[in-house]
Amino acid sequence: MTGNRKGKRRRAFVLILLFLVLSGFNFFVSPHIRDKAGEGETVSVSASAPAQSETAREETSPSEEDKVSTVDKSSEYLILVNKTHGLGKNYEPEDLKNVNSVAGDRDGKYQKMRRKAANAFNRLTKAAKREGHIIKLTSGYRPYSYQQILYRQYVKEDGKNRAEQYSAKPGYSEHQTGLVADVSSPSVNYNLVQAYGNTAEGKWLAKNAHKYGFIIRYPKGKEDITGYEYEPWHLRYVGKDAAAEIYSRGVTLEEYLGES
Ligand SMILES: [Zn+2]
Repeated sequence: MTGNRKGKRRRAFVLILLFLVLSGFNFFVSPHIRDKAGEGETVSVSASAPAQSETAREETSPSEEDKVSTVDKSSEYLILVNKTHGLGKNYEPEDLKNVNSVAGDRDGKYQKMRRKAANAFNRLTKAAKREGHIIKLTSGYRPYSYQQILYRQYVKEDGKNRAEQYSAKPGYSEHQTGLVADVSSPSVNYNLVQAYGNTAEGKWLAKNAHKYGFIIRYPKGKEDITGYEYEPWHLRYVGKDAAAEIYSRGVTLEEYLGES
């Protein structure tokens, strides 16, 4: 009797053990694990995460520079052209159009801009005029062939080293993008001179151009980064959002795009 009972118990024990092994102890263990995991998730989502992001916000908020940009930096309007980034001989935008405010004594062939930039430029000059400033485009889109003529002429007059401080080799001029306007005003006889920066129009541009999507592309004190002398007249269209960021951070396009 005893032996028989013992045998039954042993068989029952072995069966239970076998069941437990086969089920991988899930039957007993998993609800507990699930609970714990649930607690863990709850803790990380509802308690610790907001605390962390508050700390992160506090750390980043004081500096404009640390703000995450929402601008798509691969935009065609953020194309980088400088002494090391060229466009090639055949680059020619297809949407060039005339702008409203142009200096009449120049060749109209080279006073066009890409559609979006031209429209923005029209808004800029109109706003400036409302505030009493006459701002006109002297030179806009320049094809490779025309830049070649200019560059050769400058090198002949000033020598290569001097010429390259203010003029680009053909294929490396930002004017070939169709996103650029050299501007001037009656106060400087429509010349392109650094003194333009001190005129009422030059000051208005430095303060307001970004509202229309333009930046002063070659600022004072950034010659080492841009490769060019200060040019208060050379406006580059980058779009309103990028222009606002570049303006508020006081950086060049190179710095903005992380290329310097
Ligand atoms: Zn220019």
